[in-house]
This record gives sequence, C-alpha cells and structure tokens, in this order.
Amino acid sequence: MAYTYDDQNIFAKILRGEIPNTTVLETDHSLAFRDIQAQAPEHVLVIPKGPYVTYDHFANTASDAEIVDYTRAIGKICDMLGVSADDGAGYRMISNAGEHGVQEVPHLHVHILAGRNIGRMIARAAD
Ligand code: AMP
Repeated sequence: MAYTYDDQNIFAKILRGEIPNTTVLETDHSLAFRDIQAQAPEHVLVIPKGPYVTYDHFANTASDAEIVDYTRAIGKICDMLGVSADDGAGYRMISNAGEHGVQEVPHLHVHILAGRNIGRMIARAAD
C-alpha cells in the first residue's frame, strides 16, 4: 500500500507553525491541540509530527519510538482532561480515515471527545 502525504494539509501547516493552534500537549513526536469546531466540552485532536495520513499508515510504517510517544501522549491527554473512565466520566476516541471514514484532514489525528454523553457510536447515514 502506497500512502501519499499532502504536506499542504492544515495540520502540516500547524506543525510548521504557519497557522496557530491551542496546544494542550507537545512531546518529541506528537502534538495535541483543541479542535477549532469543538463538538463536546472537551474536544482535543492528537497528531503525530511525522507525515502519516491515517492510523493504519502510522501503525504500519512509523518507528517504535513514534508509536510509543503517540500512544503515551493520548494517555496523558486523558489524564490531563480528567476523563479516564477509571476516575472520570469517560470519553470517545475517533480516528477517521479516507472516503468512507469521512476524513477531512489527511494527516492522522485522533479526536478525544468528552465532557458530555457522546451518544451512540455510529449514526446511520442516509442512503
Ligand atoms: P476529520 O473529519 O476527522 O478529518 O476531522 C478534522 C477536524 O479538524 C475537524 O473536527 C475540524 O474541526 C478540525 N480542524 C480543522 N482545522 C482546524 C484547525 N485549524 N485547528 C483545529 N482544528 C481544526
């Protein structure tokens, strides 16, 4: 599978400092910032700094260091937001990929949504 990364996507521009963001956490290989159109009281996007399009692209080709850093960053964000289901009210984590996943920005990101009941996992799309 050959993935094509478009370095003009908006998250690439955020990583290059060309447009602003509201950073929640920055690590060696990852950046977490608030979604510009929050759909819940807490809506944070977590992205790797490397040029990965989707989660499967990242999982199949990123280095171990990047994968560990990204996974730990997601865990740390849940701690920072106080949403862990262990001692908070929980959250929904989503990563959209490609056409059927209705991915708008072609740079891997997970959405962490929390602060209200997020509802059922999938709304059936109109056919
Ligand atoms: P997706 O449909 O999974 O690709 O979601 C892309 C997300 O990026 C949407 O929730 C947008 O609101 C969000 N987004 C787009 N531009 C920005 C930006 N400049 N800063 C923060 N979030 C953004």
